[in-house]
Amino acid sequence: MRAFDLHIHTTASDGIMSPAEVVRYAKGKGLRAIAITDHDTIEGLQEGIQEGNKLELEVIPGVELSADSLKGTMHLLGYYIDPTCSELVDKLMVVQRARVERNLKMVEKLRALGINIELSEVKAAPEHGQIGRPHFAYTMVQKGYAHNMQDAFDRYLRKGGPAYVEKFKFTPQEAMDFIGKAGGITVLAHPFTLNQLQPKDLEALIVELKGQGLEGIEVYYPEHSEGQRKFYRYLAQKYGLVISGGSDFHGLAKDAVDLGEGYGDRELTYSLVEAIKTRREQRVKVL
Ligand SMILES: [Zn+2]
Ligand SMILES: [Zn+2]
Repeated sequence: MRAFDLHIHTTASDGIMSPAEVVRYAKGKGLRAIAITDHDTIEGLQEGIQEGNKLELEVIPGVELSADSLKGTMHLLGYYIDPTCSELVDKLMVVQRARVERNLKMVEKLRALGINIELSEVKAAPEHGQIGRPHFAYTMVQKGYAHNMQDAFDRYLRKGGPAYVEKFKFTPQEAMDFIGKAGGITVLAHPFTLNQLQPKDLEALIVELKGQGLEGIEVYYPEHSEGQRKFYRYLAQKYGLVISGGSDFHGLAKDAVDLGEGYGDRELTYSLVEAIKTRREQRVKVL
């Protein structure tokens, strides 16, 4: 059993368990530290930290942000952020507002395509988490506009599809700036989703991001191969970045990765968390 899991979602974003449930579950599994890293929101942190204090489980306040990337998908994890930082709260509000606007635009596009749905119906979909494309797909299936969710995505909602609306994203620099202002450490999540097939291209990107404030790489992740883990670990060591790891737990759905599982080397120890903490303490001293 591992000592930590530094990538976890709750009902505050698209997870199935509430923050308190996640903490109790992690405690039951014998973990020593977890990070709650919901997409674009810090709303689950207070509840998670309180439950953590009660059960004596270390809960690291975190967040996961989507950032603009020329290729693939870039997610940045912020660890040890201060949830009361007003700049952080304001920036996350910008994302939430953009999400509402995006949903309204998708309704408009669908209606223009002859698909008669209302946002209120989409909101009522039993899909969990922040309202997004899965809720649209569910509603379209219910109303007979698509055979199944995949069909709704394939014909309408996929990236570039006729009802797709681009998501709002910060630049990596902006995201790292306000994570830093909130006292946090920015770690590049699951680098494989950047689709940098050439190792030298990923290395160049890491160097560029480091210049903008990147302080770590999520090396241990369920979808990373042994070779990828090795390469990411090498990059982290070469550029003085901290190493992180987590399951990206969203709940106990079928085929889902369980909390504290699936991200490689079973000998991973708590020292990894200590290294991130030490990095943060050094930074606080500088500030
Ligand atoms: Zn992610
Ligand atoms: Zn995630």
